[in-house]
Amino acid sequence: MDLSTQPVRAVPKSVQLHKNDVPREKRIKHNRGSLTRRQRSEASPKVRKEVHERSGGVCEKCDRARSAQLAHIERRWKSEGKPTAEDFADLCVDCHTWCDSCDEGRQWLLDFQDKLIELREEKAQ
Ligand SMILES: [Zn+2]
Repeated sequence: MDLSTQPVRAVPKSVQLHKNDVPREKRIKHNRGSLTRRQRSEASPKVRKEVHERSGGVCEKCDRARSAQLAHIERRWKSEGKPTAEDFADLCVDCHTWCDSCDEGRQWLLDFQDKLIELREEKAQ
């Protein structure tokens, strides 16, 4: 037989399995369909809009500069489940850097979040 004219196959086509031949419970589980931690912690367009409406486009820390970035109040890698508007502060670049780079900044973010939660609870009453 002249092999140069034969297609290269590791397994002859007649023996190859189709995925439906393997029972569902025996198939390899993969997580191609699920979101990464990064994607899960991303602000949805709805949350972004909510935060921007709250801040009015002005930095929520210094109240002077135009806000440019949403700062995660919880560290990204700690976030569980879908983030809400209370998980973000609308900050200018300088304030965002400050918040993420020192303990004082972290503390400001946490206090800010407490204030947001208090406000919501007041509104609910
Ligand atoms: Zn600022």
